[in-house]
Order: sequence, then C-alpha cells, then structure tokens
Amino acid sequence: MSVDEYAEAGRLTTSGWREALDDGVLLGQECRDCGHVTGAPKAACVRCGSRALDTVHLPETGEVYSVTRIEVAPEGFDAPYHVAMVAFDGGRVTARLGDEAEIGETVTFEGAASTPEGPAPLFD
Ligand SMILES: [Zn+2]
Repeated sequence: MSVDEYAEAGRLTTSGWREALDDGVLLGQECRDCGHVTGAPKAACVRCGSRALDTVHLPETGEVYSVTRIEVAPEGFDAPYHVAMVAFDGGRVTARLGDEAEIGETVTFEGAASTPEGPAPLFD
C-alpha cells in the first residue's frame, strides 16, 4: 500500500498510523514549510505550526537519542520495559525497545509492539 492509503483526505490520522504500524509500516509526517519530521500524527507541525504536512515513510534505522526503563508501568502493561526516542535525519520517533540500548546506539525498526493502548513502533 502507498502511504496515502493510510491517510484520510491526505491527512494521517492516529487510526491510519496504527493500521500502518500493524502492517509493519512506520509512517510519520513531514512539514512542507520547514521540513520537520514527526513520528506520530499531529494536526500541525510542532516546530512551525504549519498544517501543510505530508505523510511519509520514516527511516527504519535510527540512533537512540534518549532511553528510559519503565519500572512502574500503567495498569495492564508488563514492566520493566524500555522506551526510547529514536532519532533519524530530520526527526525523532517515540518507540519501544526490544532490549536495553545505549544513547547513540543504532537501532532498527522491527514492527509493532503490542501494548494495551495499541501498537507502538518497536526498535531493536
Ligand atoms: Zn514546520
């Protein structure tokens, strides 16, 4: 499927983003005005406020920008687990890590992690 098939009227929605993730496709949005890339659907660019956002495939490798080990998890989640900001050229995505990782380590998109709140990008 092309990225636009997950979007509604040209705009990526949370349900379209989740559907793509369940298909093993990592989507984000790129701002036509400033080039900023986000890893999850937004109504407007977080950097410049523009609503001119294109749905794009995100890179499937990135670098661990920050990482947190969740010890006390929300109800329904199995702790401990690792959540990271994964950085790539132009942006970042919040993701689950399959294993511990150091800041600066290269990680690869593995598909969707199943969570009680829906799929989350999984990197390892
Ligand atoms: Zn922008």
